[in-house]
Amino acid sequence: MSTGNEKSASAAIVLAAGHGTRMHSDVPKQFLLLDQKPLICYALQAFEESGIGRVILVTGADTVEYCRTEIVERYGFSKVCAVVPGGKERYHSVYAGLCTANDIISKDGIILIHDGARPFLTQEIIGRTAAAAREFGACVAAMPVKDTIKISDPDGFSAATLDRKTLWQIQTPQAFRYSLVKYAYDRMIADAESQAGITDDAMVVEAMTETKVKLVEGSYNNIKVTTPEDMVIAEGLLRLQKSGGRQE
Ligand code: C5P
Repeated sequence: MSTGNEKSASAAIVLAAGHGTRMHSDVPKQFLLLDQKPLICYALQAFEESGIGRVILVTGADTVEYCRTEIVERYGFSKVCAVVPGGKERYHSVYAGLCTANDIISKDGIILIHDGARPFLTQEIIGRTAAAAREFGACVAAMPVKDTIKISDPDGFSAATLDRKTLWQIQTPQAFRYSLVKYAYDRMIADAESQAGITDDAMVVEAMTETKVKLVEGSYNNIKVTTPEDMVIAEGLLRLQKSGGRQE
């Protein structure tokens, strides 16, 4: 693990503290094997090869030691400078990473927050989100939705159809100026009422600051492995990648 004392201009928080209940597996999804390697290794490898300076890995309290020895040391992820326990909700885990980052990243540095369950992160996406965070202060990787999206009424009937041209599916990395996202999270954590329904980091910045969040091109391959069929899709995408097939 990196032990340098100087503060870095950029860092990433990789999240792996979820229970993965929708995967119906005894092993948390981020540790399931994809082509014989734990899923979490793919995102860590992408950051290892990137221009991002340091990586903070957030995992369950009971898997911190496993991650230190069996993931970080075993696979030689030299940019990982801390492995810390997360919390009950995703935003608790992000906040644990942001507090750790205080000693690691310079105040005007940028921080990328990435779901460890998204193995197909590319250097292009890291580069685009890091650049947009420097320019705009806040951004998220996103792709236009392919399906028609409807709102349901309480009885399960369609109540409205949204204009697809304005709809995006939001991915990670979500990238921010560190001081901005830390300020937004500090405010949200101090105010229990504002915590309802938080599913991503951009929501916190939108609710707690005046900063607008830029949408940056992600990739349709940048899937989040959530349910068992996603593992089948991930295996297919990996085969395509290895054969040099088309990547979106
Ligand atoms: O649950 P969901 O699929 O939205 O999780 C997205 C990412 O956030 C996953 O990588 C998961 O491990 C992480 N997470 C976390 N702490 C939680 C819940 C989710 O680090 N309490």
